[in-house]
Amino acid sequence: MALRNSHPKYNQFRFDTGSLSLNFAATVRHRGAQPRDLLPTPDALQEWLRLAGLSAPAVSAKDHKEALLLREAIHDTVRSVVLNAKPKKTDIENINRAAEFPIAVPQLHAAADRIQWETKHPIKAGLAVIARDAITLMGGAERNRLKMCGSGSCQMLFIDHSPANRRRWCAMSICGNREKIRMHRNRKKSPEKIGRQGPKK
Ligand SMILES: [Zn+2]
Repeated sequence: MALRNSHPKYNQFRFDTGSLSLNFAATVRHRGAQPRDLLPTPDALQEWLRLAGLSAPAVSAKDHKEALLLREAIHDTVRSVVLNAKPKKTDIENINRAAEFPIAVPQLHAAADRIQWETKHPIKAGLAVIARDAITLMGGAERNRLKMCGSGSCQMLFIDHSPANRRRWCAMSICGNREKIRMHRNRKKSPEKIGRQGPKK
C-alpha cells in the first residue's frame, strides 16, 4: 500500500463511522485514491486501541500483523455487502476466527471501587470485540444501512443512521461539501450537458 504525503487532516483517525469495526477499517484513509495506512506500526495500533477504549498493552509484531489482516478482512467483506458482491471465504473465516477468542471479563477490584478487565491476551480479546461488532453489523438489522462514501477518493465505510437512510457522504464537512463544489464546477464547465438533460423533443 502506497504511503504518500497528504494534507495533515488525512493523518487523523476517524471515529465517526458509526461502529467500532468500521472505525477500525477507516484507519486506512483515502482507499479510493492514495491509501494512507494510519496503523503502520505496532505502536500506532496500540494508540488506536487506547483511543477506541480497548485494553492496549504493548503490541507485538505478530499481533500487529494479525490485526491488520482482520482489518482488511472486515473492510473487504463490508464493502462487498455494500456493493452486493460475493464476499471472500478467507475473509469470513478470518473474522469468525478472531471473534472466537474470549473477550475480557469484568472483575471487581478488591476495594470494590473499580473494574479490572481480565483476559489472557488483551490484544486478541480486543480484536475479538472488533470482529464481533463486524459480525453483528453485517448479519444484523443494520445491514441495509451500511454505506460507502460517495467520494471516489474517500470510499469510507459507514452506517447511515439518518431516518431516511439516504446519506451519501462519510461526513458533509469532509466529503459532502467538497463533492458539491466539484459538481457545481463541472456543471459550470459544461453547460451543454445541462442543455441535453432538458425536456425531450
Ligand atoms: Zn468521505
